[in-house]
Amino acid sequence: MDFSTSKALHKEALDLIVGGVNSPSRAYKGVGGGSPVYMDQGEGAYFWDVDGNKYIDYLGAFGPIITGHGHPHIAEAITNVANNGVLYGTPTRLENKFAKMLQAAIPSLEKVRFVNSGTEAVMTTVRVARAYTGRNKIIKFSGSYHGHFDSVLVEAGSGPATLGTPDSAGIPQSVAEDVITVPFNDLDTFRRAMDQWGDQVAAVLVEPIVGNFGIVKPHEGFLQGINDTAHDAGSLVIYDEVITAFRFTYGSAQQIYGVEPDMTAMGKIIGGGLPIGAYGGRQDIMEQVAPLGPAYQAGTMSGNPASISAGIACLEVLQQDSVYEKLDRLGERLETGITQKASEVGIPISVNRMCGAMTIYFGGETVTNYEQAEASDGDAFAEFFRLMLEQGINLAPSKFEAWFLTTEHTEADIDATIEAAGKAFAAMR
Ligand code: PMP
Repeated sequence: MDFSTSKALHKEALDLIVGGVNSPSRAYKGVGGGSPVYMDQGEGAYFWDVDGNKYIDYLGAFGPIITGHGHPHIAEAITNVANNGVLYGTPTRLENKFAKMLQAAIPSLEKVRFVNSGTEAVMTTVRVARAYTGRNKIIKFSGSYHGHFDSVLVEAGSGPATLGTPDSAGIPQSVAEDVITVPFNDLDTFRRAMDQWGDQVAAVLVEPIVGNFGIVKPHEGFLQGINDTAHDAGSLVIYDEVITAFRFTYGSAQQIYGVEPDMTAMGKIIGGGLPIGAYGGRQDIMEQVAPLGPAYQAGTMSGNPASISAGIACLEVLQQDSVYEKLDRLGERLETGITQKASEVGIPISVNRMCGAMTIYFGGETVTNYEQAEASDGDAFAEFFRLMLEQGINLAPSKFEAWFLTTEHTEADIDATIEAAGKAFAAMR
């Protein structure tokens, strides 16, 4: 494959844009020799790069794209907005319509607020929880990503349940001291942390199904245990459903597991590919937010007609019959086929999958927490990534990311991908 135009564009970008990219994971740092592929055009499950190479896309733009590229229903919604004026700075009826759709799908959202990114959504839930409880600390789970605001760019120290250390330069130690990080799927350690700090904990922040060290499901009873322990201590529970909302079912992970948080943050899919975030939850908690309450949050672009219209159109597509059954069927076909190809040539992998989202870990160990995901073989992943790319299969450029299927992938796409994976595994031996 010829990547010369991508390479030239990246060389130019390095002089213009910091690191050549507008989000670090696009730099292909750990994979592909640090030179990203520049996409030019998309249609359904495919996109084409600037050199004319065609790919089957499993990146899904890191999660938002679930109805494929350029879906006509979403394109029409965006075009209508473009023709009518894209921003008024006043409320519109679209926001009511979309809020009703979200509430109908996720009943714990007694009140919602639209923002512009997942980061903003999670950041505000943390602020609101602090306002509501009058406490400062939050508990999060190692390896989960919740956006790029200060409090969540904090990782665990060396112990199993520790006060955080900043994970990025520019974050005051005083901020990190209010963040406690514990391992996912480890209720005992979580409870010990709550025993120690519970009366200072405003909220427990959790991805109910992890998407950020691959797809990792909660053990049975884990989410209920978090709720029970947190509520006993007067702490709130916040679900970060930025990836999970509308990814596995028409609704959220909280419905799949039958456990309701106090607040939920969303993003990605609910914007149909346009910038969006949303947060919501219990009415008495949400009433902390301005203009009703003392917790401030605002946004010039929040609830803008383009993002809201694209979101409505995307959910309308997802409401159609059998969408999630199809995603699950294709996901199962992909998982089975790839697992078989790997075992045929003796490449040890383990696969975590839920519906149309999946992660392959090289090394073969089962992954239920971040430590195990981290122990998987990154060099093998990087080689696999490159071998797949050269066969026209575009994966997320990190061993910690998921493959995301769309409603537009076909069985033929899946079979072509399995074939390509078989060749990649054979080359890796
Ligand atoms: N939470 C989770 C679970 C995410 O995966 C992400 C983004 N990958 C975010 C929050 C932040 O969202 P955004 O990039 O839209 O700010």
